Amino acid sequence: MASSSHALTCVACHDPLVMSVESDSDSDSDAGQPGPSSSAQASSSSAAQETVPDDLHLPCGCHFHWQCLLDQSPQIASTLSCPNCSTTLTPNPSSGIQAVYSSEGGQSEPVDLLPLVQEEAHLQTHTEERPGRALHTMAGEGDVEGIVSLLRDAEDTPAERAALLRYRDPLGGGRNALHVAVENGKADAFWLLLWVASDLPTDNFSTEMRQTMGSIRLQRGGGEDLRFVQDVEGRTPGDYAAASGEWDEWINGGVFMLRS
Ligand SMILES: [Zn+2]
Ligand SMILES: [Zn+2]
Repeated sequence: MASSSHALTCVACHDPLVMSVESDSDSDSDAGQPGPSSSAQASSSSAAQETVPDDLHLPCGCHFHWQCLLDQSPQIASTLSCPNCSTTLTPNPSSGIQAVYSSEGGQSEPVDLLPLVQEEAHLQTHTEERPGRALHTMAGEGDVEGIVSLLRDAEDTPAERAALLRYRDPLGGGRNALHVAVENGKADAFWLLLWVASDLPTDNFSTEMRQTMGSIRLQRGGGEDLRFVQDVEGRTPGDYAAASGEWDEWINGGVFMLRS
């Protein structure tokens, strides 16, 4: 409202191109006082709502909220054109859809929307894959707490748990979560996945790990052994490990050995 330069709105929902955020006391900024530089409101006790830009500018000239555009992913992915003005958004799918996003952090470098739109389009028609994709994201980030939480949610439904763990990324070369953990060098996620989704003998796990797993009572194995699942190029997580050169200890320690 401060700078009413141009009242741009989202072409999908017709709201202003901002989103409300709570000016939370995030950990890394020490500021005890809520003090977004420009606003000089004295009483900002409960009214800690502020807005930040949320403006996705497409090559055709249309502006969307980020989420409003993603909501139309199936149409964009199939037509490669703007859902508002029908202008073609890319001369060639290989060059992607270059857009500029303005957010709290300012204006981005051109971002390629095409892979994001394709993934979202895929998920909108395969909603059952969302937990699996979340698992892969967590495996890639080494977010073991997140993985434990996902598993807990699925634990009462064996079919759901099995589907979660054996999920293979159709947009990522058919990798499973163990491929992802190995590729990103996330050792904790790696061992956790071996615990819940491999037949590796329990002796192979550290004492500490066995105690931890015992105390949080996560079910061991019982489904597909992720160590031996191949991606679309026929490579197992062990092949990824061998290629990286950073996992020698485990390869030589037998983690990836075939069952006898
Ligand atoms: Zn919108
Ligand atoms: Zn447009």
